[in-house]
Amino acid sequence: MLFSDIFGYDALKNRLIKSVHENRVSHSQLLFGPEGTPKLALAIAYAQYVNCLSRTENDSCGVCSSCVKYNHLAHPDLHFIYPVATTKEIDSKPKSRDFIAPWRELVLETRANFSLTDWYDKIGMAETKQAIINAEDAGEVVRTLALKAFEADYKVLILWMVERMNPTSANRLLKVLEEPPEKTLFLLITEDPDQILSTILSRTQLIKIPAMSEAVIVTQLQNRFDFSLAEAARIALLSEGNWLTACRIAQAGGQEGASAGDFIEWLRDIFRLGTSRFWAEASLSVLQRAAVFARSGRESQKSFLLMAMRMVRFVMLQGLGASGMVKLEGAEAKFTVDFSPFVHADNAPLYYDLLQESHNNIERNANAQLLFIDLSYQFERIMRIPNPKQ
Ligand SMILES: [Zn+2]
Repeated sequence: MLFSDIFGYDALKNRLIKSVHENRVSHSQLLFGPEGTPKLALAIAYAQYVNCLSRTENDSCGVCSSCVKYNHLAHPDLHFIYPVATTKEIDSKPKSRDFIAPWRELVLETRANFSLTDWYDKIGMAETKQAIINAEDAGEVVRTLALKAFEADYKVLILWMVERMNPTSANRLLKVLEEPPEKTLFLLITEDPDQILSTILSRTQLIKIPAMSEAVIVTQLQNRFDFSLAEAARIALLSEGNWLTACRIAQAGGQEGASAGDFIEWLRDIFRLGTSRFWAEASLSVLQRAAVFARSGRESQKSFLLMAMRMVRFVMLQGLGASGMVKLEGAEAKFTVDFSPFVHADNAPLYYDLLQESHNNIERNANAQLLFIDLSYQFERIMRIPNPKQ
């Protein structure tokens, strides 16, 4: 992975490059930023640059013996740890090493741009499972790192999604960060630094990777998908700085999935829950939706809730008279207008907090069916809070 393979983020790349030139490579660094930012790509490019045998001013050479191995992610001094779970093939004690082949494939075919869900799909992990970085995994790599480097200047460990470490593995990592082996570079990657032990945070240099700028997304969409400027700008706005979302919408021909429609239908049911005439019918529909929701798997549940948060935000903008910022079309645009009287200063934060909390609870393995039913009735209650302007 070369720095030039990563688009945008010039200031950040320069900072990393400069640290190599000035011989200030900090032994443990934590790259954090939301989904869809090139954290992993930057980490690999950085490690490759540190070890390149004939690096140029701004990038690795791409052809030296170290780079050739890095290009295939097959350098003996490059180690990866990532969340794993049991699958059909690996049915007990899963370790990162067991999944190195699909890992390399996914990193190479996506240029290190993928989500946790993409990773789960790649290894054929059931969505109902929760992948973690376990202690055996952490222990094994710690042992490997204690050995002398095979051939590189720096041994590198890239830990992807550190927030998925269980407490035992976090403590093992902490130990090795406290007394790092010589010439070892730890590159930790996370989407959620709040979930990481403060003792680990305090031992790493923090590198924030902000969401991708709209301008960069627009340019990339035009280059890669041949969209017009207007279309690319619309998709960039919908993606909210998440390049993976932008790609998904782009691959669907610029159309978002059906989920916004599902959300609108669900809200119609909730609205009718508050009426005596349609109550029974709507209750039944909510129960059916809860069953469908529960079957859809954790990652789809989370993406439904995130999408719901985005729609609520658009409705709020509509209510504030900022309709220019609501980049939706057709039925979805009409929905933000129809629904805006029900989202106002007195209840908007409640919808939002409730969706956020549900999202967190899904992460923690809550019973999705009960959660969805509860969410529906709480939404109904929030919807009935009177609009102070009416
Ligand atoms: Zn090189």
